[in-house]
Amino acid sequence: MDIQAYQQMMEALSLSKRERLLIVEKREQQCICPQCPNYKECNVEENELAFCTTGKSVCITKEKQCICPTCPLAAELGLNNTFYCTRGSETQQMLLETLQVRKSWVK
Ligand code: SF4
Ligand code: SF4
Repeated sequence: MDIQAYQQMMEALSLSKRERLLIVEKREQQCICPQCPNYKECNVEENELAFCTTGKSVCITKEKQCICPTCPLAAELGLNNTFYCTRGSETQQMLLETLQVRKSWVK
């Protein structure tokens, strides 16, 4: 991870509660997760969206297919990961990679 990405990650971690809520609200409007097989199978509650920002779902546990790479928000933000609902937010996955404690899904 380069220094700019690291700084962005640190800034993301220090957002105020209100700032975070506003970001989540905006991202939820763009989130296409409800079209995803994993999401449909689990019957996720309506307020669970934008896992790339909010982190893991309390409902979804299986990994069939992730459509995040086709999400406009992913392209807009340059997100690099997938399966946010089961593996954690972009920031969490970046942090795990940086600390080299990535889980078994990564070879
Ligand atoms: S990248 Fe994935 S989790 Fe994030 S808003 Fe888009 S569809 Fe939802
Ligand atoms: S994060 Fe990916 S796998 Fe999870 S519900 Fe959204 S599109 Fe599907």
